[in-house]
Amino acid sequence: MNIRETNYWLETVLERVQGTPGPLPDTVDVAVVGAGFCGLSAARALAKRGVSVAVFEAETLGWGASCRNGGMVLTGMKLPVPTLIARYGLKTVQQMYAASLESIALVEQIVKDESIDCAFSRCGHLEVACKPRHFAGYAESAALIQREFGHELRIIPKNELRQEIGSDIYFGGLVDETSAGVNPAQYVNGLAKAAQRAGASLYEHARVTKVQPEVSNGARRFRVSTSRGSLLAREVILASGAYTTSVTLALRKKVIPIGSYIIATEVLPAGLARELSPRNRMIYDSKHFLYYYRLTPDNRMLFGGRAAFFPESESTVRESAELLRQGMIQVYPQLRETRVEFVWGGTLDFTFDVVPHSGKIDGMHFALGFAGHGVAAATWMGAKLAAVICGDLGNNPFSSIPFPGAPIGLRSGNTWALPLAGMYYRVLDYFT
Ligand SMILES: Cc1cc2nc3c(=O)[nH]c(=O)nc-3n(C[C@H](O)[C@H](O)[C@H](O)COP(=O)(O)OP(=O)(O)OC[C@H]3O[C@@H](n4cnc5c(N)ncnc54)[C@H](O)[C@@H]3O)c2cc1C
Repeated sequence: MNIRETNYWLETVLERVQGTPGPLPDTVDVAVVGAGFCGLSAARALAKRGVSVAVFEAETLGWGASCRNGGMVLTGMKLPVPTLIARYGLKTVQQMYAASLESIALVEQIVKDESIDCAFSRCGHLEVACKPRHFAGYAESAALIQREFGHELRIIPKNELRQEIGSDIYFGGLVDETSAGVNPAQYVNGLAKAAQRAGASLYEHARVTKVQPEVSNGARRFRVSTSRGSLLAREVILASGAYTTSVTLALRKKVIPIGSYIIATEVLPAGLARELSPRNRMIYDSKHFLYYYRLTPDNRMLFGGRAAFFPESESTVRESAELLRQGMIQVYPQLRETRVEFVWGGTLDFTFDVVPHSGKIDGMHFALGFAGHGVAAATWMGAKLAAVICGDLGNNPFSSIPFPGAPIGLRSGNTWALPLAGMYYRVLDYFT
């Protein structure tokens, strides 16, 4: 196989946003660590309210998970609704679900207001059942979501599944028409341009190496040191997601970096693309170690999965290409002779309770833990953090729930136990 180990989405960004040149100012109202959806959405919202804001990105703007993902703009959260209700109670989960719907509307609004050319489309998502018992659970979930959240999902029995997907291996499906698809690299690039237009300064290759509270002119400030110099900030937002480092150790200990990988095929003939995904849905299956896939706007099959309980590396990316191709062929035997052109990986930001969290840690604002649902949620959470800094506390159900730390053995940031967690979920997929 002659596959390029490169992120396909980046090839579609025609005019890459340029970071702010020159030295840093002495002071700023808000310093943001990380230029992904979360940090850039916060920066845009703050700058639009007249707050001075500097975003620091260790690599290039949008470099982290935000430019590498599947571009699925999904309703709901990673965990099933009954699990969430048992944990947090109905009222809180109603607010969480409403936030997930609101977050898709926010992405749509930003794309429209800022004229971001990123193929945003409300094409809906399809979850496909890998086992008959998974399909049986769909009716219960759909009824619960309709009754408690007033949101409609559609059950697709196996004999009608060909209207949704050109594969015969599944036992039925669940469609949510509200979900959307986007080209994530074009979206994050557009979001960065929008933040810059609103007045935010965006510093690339500016790794934050230290954040220290200090008192300046009688007021509490943070001294933010970066590889491009340092400044004083009134507030700090940590939007570093799965790439959070020990510079902010308290937060680092609460995030599990999980590798996920994607391949993209050559451009498919239009008829074949239509057969594989007749309604152009964002598709994922019902396993814990799931596959997620979709057509790109230019009709490639983009196929992701093979989560690994450690961040991606050159060798895991290379190994993933053939493993994912085998997975793709199991789903779509029609693609047996199709060439895979791209493979890449990224790191997902999981928390120990698999729920997003936001709030304050060591006096700094943060939001992370979006898992595979961060395109919309990270955008929404960034805007919420900006609102809180501007004194508008609003309603954010993810800031009022307990944020558990790591179990024993992972407390010091060790990752030796993570492959065991991976094995646990593989066993769970076998038996459930
Ligand atoms: C392969 C893959 C597929 C996915 N698919 C989907 C999907 O289809 N749908 C969905 O909703 N979600 C998906 N996700 C999840 C989603 O992409 C993330 O949840 C989301 O992008 C998180 O955004 P963020 O802004 O919080 O973090 P990121 O985009 O990861 O940005 C964090 C940034 O912080 C920077 N940083 C870290 N430390 C420092 C420092 N000390 N100084 C300066 N900068 C620093 C990093 O360089 C990075 O660029 C996927 C993720 C991956 C990896």
